[in-house]
Amino acid sequence: RAKEANDSRVHFFAHALQEAAGARLALRNDLTRSLKQGGELLLHYQPQVDAQGRMLGMEALVRWQHPVRGLIPPGLFIPEAEASGLIVPLGNWVLEEAVRCLKRWQEMGLAKGLTMGVNVSPRQFREGDFIHRLEDVLARVGVDALSIELELTESVVADDLDATVETMRALRERGIRFALDDFGTGYSSLAYLRRLPFETLKIDRSFVMDIGVGPVEGEGKSPAVLIDAIVAMAHELDLRVLAEGVETQGQIDYLVEAGCDVFQGYFFGKPAPAEQIEARLRAARGEVAGA
Ligand code: C2E
Ligand code: MG
Ligand code: MG
Ligand code: MG
Repeated sequence: RAKEANDSRVHFFAHALQEAAGARLALRNDLTRSLKQGGELLLHYQPQVDAQGRMLGMEALVRWQHPVRGLIPPGLFIPEAEASGLIVPLGNWVLEEAVRCLKRWQEMGLAKGLTMGVNVSPRQFREGDFIHRLEDVLARVGVDALSIELELTESVVADDLDATVETMRALRERGIRFALDDFGTGYSSLAYLRRLPFETLKIDRSFVMDIGVGPVEGEGKSPAVLIDAIVAMAHELDLRVLAEGVETQGQIDYLVEAGCDVFQGYFFGKPAPAEQIEARLRAARGEVAGA
């Protein structure tokens, strides 16, 4: 009996694993096809605002409009793209598309002083020709490096500090800015923060979610006090602090009080297609959308 149950459990897991591997392979093949064919990836843009709600920039976030499965969020295919190396062509597409979009808005007079944030995966950042490719896109499209902010996660830094420092400095000299994404979730060494030319520190959404949560019995202070500590440290290092995932007025009040400089989250706008952001930029300029 016990053995039978065990066997069936083993079979169940083996089967599940096989299915998972099969699903990953299918996803990879599908993504390869999609990249070759084109026309299925798209970017949404999410506003980044100051304490008065004025737009300072936006972050480009990739989506996959799948012919059968519908709109797929990046969390479901970026990890596989990263593992398979497909992130390199995918990331190149994102970079080009985001820069072109910013250029259009600049030409319409809608994006004066606004920055475009672009996520760059570790593997993409470490590609030998990343610097050259970025320069090439900016030169071809005609966008100033100063209006681009590359978002890197702590894992890029943790993997190879020296190489990261070198590439970042080379790009920084050309005017490119950097944001440290998802701060506080990974391997956070304060030592590297001092060495790397980041402009912005993005406090991860999980900290923002803790706002309003009282102290847990036996765990000391409320978890949100970490935000105060992060802001103080970041400002000490001359970093601008952006809070991710801001959804409520209560969170804003706390974050403003804590000294956060920039805000991003559903409260100020969900990631949206270019046309919607464009309408918003027009409205902010005092024009009626579509007029
Ligand atoms: P991220 O760079 O930290 O982007 C922020 C994520 O938080 C986005 O999810 C955004 O939709 C979500 N978000 C923003 N505000 C709120 C909020 O108020 N509440 C909640 N619940 N969520 C909020 P998304 O678009 O699904 O992207 C997930 C992750 O996928 C990104 O995290 C980024 O790591 C990765 N990603 C997205 N686009 C790209 C890309 O073009 N290249 C690379 N390498 N990674 C990308
Ligand atoms: Mg990001
Ligand atoms: Mg983030
Ligand atoms: Mg995140």
